[in-house]
Amino acid sequence: MIPLPENFETYSEARKKGFLKIMDMKRQVGKKVVGVFCSYTPVELISAANAIYVSLCGSGEEGISSAEKHLPGNLCPLIKSSYGLALSDACPYFYFSDMILAETTCDGKKKMYELMGRLKPTHVMQLPHNADSEAAEDLWLSEIYRAKEALEHTLHTAITEEALRTAIHQKNLERAAMVRLYEIGKLKPCPISGYELSTIIESTAFMFSGNQKLAAMESRAEELINEYEQSYKGKPSRPRILITGCPFDGVRDKVIKKIEALGAQVVAFENCSGPRTQQSLVDETINPYRALARRYLGINCSVMTPNTGRFEALETMIRDYQIDGVIEIILHCCHTYAIESQLVKEFVTEQRRLPFLSLTTDYSTSDSGQIATRIGAFLEMIDTIPR
Ligand code: SF4
Ligand code: SF4
Repeated sequence: MIPLPENFETYSEARKKGFLKIMDMKRQVGKKVVGVFCSYTPVELISAANAIYVSLCGSGEEGISSAEKHLPGNLCPLIKSSYGLALSDACPYFYFSDMILAETTCDGKKKMYELMGRLKPTHVMQLPHNADSEAAEDLWLSEIYRAKEALEHTLHTAITEEALRTAIHQKNLERAAMVRLYEIGKLKPCPISGYELSTIIESTAFMFSGNQKLAAMESRAEELINEYEQSYKGKPSRPRILITGCPFDGVRDKVIKKIEALGAQVVAFENCSGPRTQQSLVDETINPYRALARRYLGINCSVMTPNTGRFEALETMIRDYQIDGVIEIILHCCHTYAIESQLVKEFVTEQRRLPFLSLTTDYSTSDSGQIATRIGAFLEMIDTIPR
């Protein structure tokens, strides 16, 4: 694995550092805070309401035992840890949130929000299950207007069109910087580990100034391009892996770090926060509410049926990132990704003729050995496949 820089911060360290920032912003300037859980949340509305948005997704075992007092054991760990942290008052971000803005994505999440709504004001947007029709876009547009009203009502503020256009522009700049950093993975050999790259990008969720996020991503991208030119260009590459499937913050060490410790390199991320989602900007030339509806409905998540955009994204990314093998991460009891896995396997192995490994796991460390063995066997297979 490419060594981590001395000033590297893990995701949980970045998350902890953010606690103090958010506390200061709340106490000193009275900033309102909105907790979010999903890539479908139109966060520009929150910025336009002059509030901060923060991800409340659980990414560790903490909270799971508390959650299981109310929720079934056989539920996705992301849902259980998110709810458990809230229920046990163990998450400062939840504590500081004035409200939650959520969506009806998978069944587990939407039913969990009914319980979460007893702890904190929670507005749930009704997400259509299909993204390809005018009716779906119109429904989502009406939900965006409803979310605007909920934010205005709960935060005692007004969202103006001017503030919304400013927020859209700023978020588009952040997305472009994020894509530029993700696209460092296209360099061969890649000058950064996937572990570090994904950590830097996901940790920007705990920076609450748009300009700070932009500066952090732009300067790291610049450094990496220089490092590539000076030390990597023309050298051999390790096997290049694309990650697909569920959000992986809770299993980053167990899976991403392990893949790289065993000699391969994770260069591409085809999941809901990766480049395939970020490269789609909000159209700044049309009605901003319609533009938000269109952009957010275009996210390729397995909660959509059908989810054809995921296969288009896989095709493009496999080609552009010169991928040697695909590893899918499925969190326990995530039915939508688990079922869609069959289509992904057929696409990768039959149409793209690449090795494919699907790992089902949770946030515990009990299967670490088994996961490492499966990754090791998979990487041996990549090394021996003639291409
Ligand atoms: S995988 Fe789907 S439901 Fe889960 S956070 Fe991403 S977009 Fe939302
Ligand atoms: S990983 Fe799957 S089950 Fe878990 S919250 Fe996301 S869509 Fe729902």
